[in-house]
Amino acid sequence: MNNILDEAKTLQEVIVKDRRYIHQNAELGHDLPITSEYVINRLKEMGYEPQVITDSAIVALAGGKKNGRTILLRADMDALPILEENGLDYKSTTKNMHACGHDAHASMLLGAAQILKNHEDELEGTVKLMFQPAEEQLSGAKAMIEAGVLENPKVDAAIMIHIFSGMPVPAGSLLVPNGGYVTSSGDMFHIDIKGKGGHGAMPNNSVDPLNVAAHIHISLQEIISREVPPSSTTVITIGQMHGGNASNIIPDTAFIQGSIRAFDEKEREYMKNRVVEISKGAASTFRAEANVEYRMECPSVYNNPELYGQVHKINVDLLGKKAVKGFDTAFPGGKMTGSEDFGYISEKVPSVMMALGGGSPEQGYPYPQHHPKVNFNEDVFYIGSAVYANTAIEWLKLSK
Ligand SMILES: [Zn+2]
Ligand SMILES: [Zn+2]
Repeated sequence: MNNILDEAKTLQEVIVKDRRYIHQNAELGHDLPITSEYVINRLKEMGYEPQVITDSAIVALAGGKKNGRTILLRADMDALPILEENGLDYKSTTKNMHACGHDAHASMLLGAAQILKNHEDELEGTVKLMFQPAEEQLSGAKAMIEAGVLENPKVDAAIMIHIFSGMPVPAGSLLVPNGGYVTSSGDMFHIDIKGKGGHGAMPNNSVDPLNVAAHIHISLQEIISREVPPSSTTVITIGQMHGGNASNIIPDTAFIQGSIRAFDEKEREYMKNRVVEISKGAASTFRAEANVEYRMECPSVYNNPELYGQVHKINVDLLGKKAVKGFDTAFPGGKMTGSEDFGYISEKVPSVMMALGGGSPEQGYPYPQHHPKVNFNEDVFYIGSAVYANTAIEWLKLSK
């Protein structure tokens, strides 16, 4: 029953070697020349024909010898602009750090690629490997969808794994969140307020954009307190308000930047529209103009309930009942109030996001993701490879 797990274990050293190389060469966003070249070369060594479909975005196919459906396995590969503070011998040599564990994702998927190659003749369909840039900017998945990652062959289901550290998730356990929304959406807005500058002693001759900004700020809070149901988990945060540079001058303009988080797609749309309406309304009330722009938008990840059932059972069979847990192990209520651009994939095809425990505080991993001292327990990486490969193999059998 645990053949794939045993097979993955024999690859553990290679997976760690891949991870450390990617870790040392941490790169950002859509431009991952060293990382993508490394992944392409590794895939070629295994006998794949990887394609670069857009900037640093790699797709490779396994199987396809037998007719069947197509499952996509996704790993991201980008790092964060953080200076690493770990004293590891494989510490990052760039100004960036793999502080979110995407180095682990890419190397675990490379491990899975090797397993799938070993079993290629047995695959009851096709496995599409997706190595994605720019997850941290929430733009890589979207770029790959636009470049056709879900077509040729058409993807019928998609899964991903995120490794977690510094959370109450024991190393090596697998979180398979229930069907439904599992991460929050993330929408970043920018509000430009146009008033009319003038002398601070004669406000009647001006239109004060700072006064308008203050009213917009207060008014936006009412969306949460008065308009969205109290039972729903939603956030509006204003992170920046700027305008003016002297105490006796009314400036011409001001701007506000903020973000919206929601789980439910309808509530998300509602809040996004209300930010625009309220900003424009408050501005016109006080004779100014406001223009709202969404500069970054990312939908929630939606775990498809049917696929969840299948993926959950496949992984209980692989790892045992005790090792497979719900998202509530890491997050109260079973929902993550962060965003993950796999949400764009889950909008288009039935998808499941999973998480792998990479060390809890009790196990000596006190730092959370995005911290300059975060690290992950490498001993569990082969489990991630096994989960990727085995879920694909078994799901393709189910869908025959
Ligand atoms: Zn991250
Ligand atoms: Zn991440």
